[in-house]
Amino acid sequence: VTEHVTVHETLPSRVLVGRGARHAIPEETERLGSRRVLLVSTRSAKPAADELAAALGLRLAALVDRPVVHTPVTVTEEALEILRERNADSLVALGGGSAVGLAKALSVRTGLPQIAVPTTYAGSEVTPVLGETRDGVKTTRRDPAIAPGTVVYDPDLTLTMPPGLTRTSALNALAHAVEALWAPDATAATDALATEAADGILTALPAVLADPTALPGRERLQECAWLAGLCLARTRMGLHHQLAHALGGTFDLPHAELHALLLAHVLAFNLPAAPKAAARLSRVTGGDPVEAVGRLARGHDGPTTLHELGVPRDGLRTIAERIAAEPYPNPRRPDAVALLGLLEAAW
Ligand code: NAD
Repeated sequence: VTEHVTVHETLPSRVLVGRGARHAIPEETERLGSRRVLLVSTRSAKPAADELAAALGLRLAALVDRPVVHTPVTVTEEALEILRERNADSLVALGGGSAVGLAKALSVRTGLPQIAVPTTYAGSEVTPVLGETRDGVKTTRRDPAIAPGTVVYDPDLTLTMPPGLTRTSALNALAHAVEALWAPDATAATDALATEAADGILTALPAVLADPTALPGRERLQECAWLAGLCLARTRMGLHHQLAHALGGTFDLPHAELHALLLAHVLAFNLPAAPKAAARLSRVTGGDPVEAVGRLARGHDGPTTLHELGVPRDGLRTIAERIAAEPYPNPRRPDAVALLGLLEAAW
């Protein structure tokens, strides 16, 4: 393939979207020919997990309800033992990115089919990516076999998200769309998905924060998180994700909150060098994207700076130097001095 040609592949997946879609999960497991379902769920999703367990009846092989963020291998190995003891032949993940990650880790080790039922806006359910931690070191792999074959989006499952998680998780999704707009392998299809996702998130998020039970807004946010997840699956992520990986990995920080507080700073850094992203984001925000995203991020009632997240100021230089030495593809070349400026501003 020449340098002017980009390859756009899509993963084969079956996606159910809409209120009450969760009631179709038992039927979806039958469609997979499954007789022994291992359910991975977060405790936050207990009512939905109990409802599903009752509907599956004897076809429920086991329930694993303690997924941990960044998919530690020790947790996966314990769940793998349960999976084998109970002869599970399919996986259902019900929860945020942590539950989806654990099911992916089990699927990649066993080849079992998966149904992902996300309850946040993380987008992992549509990506072929799995990040795992062993002895505190996170490694990421990408393989089409990692992506769940079936995804169920039921907006009712997002109604329990508290305002803080709603805001930070939606900004996490927005970051996928934003980075897709300036990705070197963006295509007309990812541009369309990313622009629609950014527009929807920036419009629906303030409305949902004003009334967290407003269903139309919740539906829109979930749809846009799906589109943003497709962007994450399709394009190479840049400086924003590199910063999140480096900071999150070094200082063990909460995923969505970190993404939420970094995004406006990365936009300010990159937009002057990313005209297409700047034009599209200015159009959807009707003004200055840095200001619009910054306002949403600063409204969080939890940590909104790296300082408040517990990052030591004297740790910033090493992060800046590490990224400058081996940058992800990014519209503006991040040199260590400029990066340190960005990190100081976020601190
Ligand atoms: P999470 O799954 O860790 O959930 C955060 C918290 O919110 C948990 O306490 C959870 O119980 C709670 N929660 C989840 N849904 C809820 C709901 N509807 N109502 C109330 N509480 C709810 O957080 P996350 O941000 O969804 O996922 C983060 C993880 O996903 C990280 O490990 C990250 O690396 C991974 N991730 C992976 C990809 C990928 O493509 N591989 C993409 C995005 C995120």
